[in-house]
Amino acid sequence: MPEGPEIHAQAVRLQFLKGERPRLVSPYLPELERLQGKRVKEVGARGKAFLITFEGNRTLYAHMQLYGRWVFGKPGQVDKTNRQMRLSLGTESQEARLYSATDIEILSTLQQHPYLSKLGPDLLDPGVGLPELKAQLLDRRFSGRRLAGLLLDQSFWAGPGNYLRSEILFCAGLTPETRPRDLSSDQQDQLARIAQGLARRSLKTKGLTNHPKLIQKAKKDGQTRRYYRHWVFNRLGRPCWICQSPIRKEEWGGRRLYRCLECAGGGELEMQFEDVE
Ligand SMILES: [Zn+2]
Repeated sequence: MPEGPEIHAQAVRLQFLKGERPRLVSPYLPELERLQGKRVKEVGARGKAFLITFEGNRTLYAHMQLYGRWVFGKPGQVDKTNRQMRLSLGTESQEARLYSATDIEILSTLQQHPYLSKLGPDLLDPGVGLPELKAQLLDRRFSGRRLAGLLLDQSFWAGPGNYLRSEILFCAGLTPETRPRDLSSDQQDQLARIAQGLARRSLKTKGLTNHPKLIQKAKKDGQTRRYYRHWVFNRLGRPCWICQSPIRKEEWGGRRLYRCLECAGGGELEMQFEDVE
């Protein structure tokens, strides 16, 4: 299932619509005609939803649900798929086609929307800074809950999913049962910074969360992407990048979590940089 970085990477590809008056097609949303011929002002993502705002301040909202998928190509191109096309937005040279996702709406305000209003600050929203992320750690709704659960709860921070959960915990040197209120203020700062840094790195590198220096070395050694992609996620039995102990796999909240039980994690290496990138 796509996590924040994968969703935001698609939003980056949709930027070609900005400033254009795209041709809109949706067999399922006749109201879309109202936006025909209107110019696109903003394109972005929040949580697992894409938001395309047109002049006149109407926003086309498309939630990916479990199976949604964007395909990018030439206008009018027919994709080889059995999926149903739900929406397409095309210019002279490019077209974005959304398959399978059925949760598509036109919104005049975002505030009261049932999905958007429940989302916490998005790790990859350029307007979200560390203070907003830290405020969630201090919030009574979250401060007494375990990070294993919080890091998958989109009302806490929007964006992380299963791989980011393991990666964030490892780099912050924290166990899954840690609660925000167990942390010092400095540890909370570091957790927020690492979470945002890893999400940004993953967006920029198409899914890599491991440290660039370690990746560089692993590549030189002839390792595969699957081997060096993450700090701990999907690395059961492989040596920890920091202490060489085998990585362990556990289940938390019914989902896989990977960790090293022997060392304090990758935080020291991550925090040597002013920005985790
Ligand atoms: Zn280790």
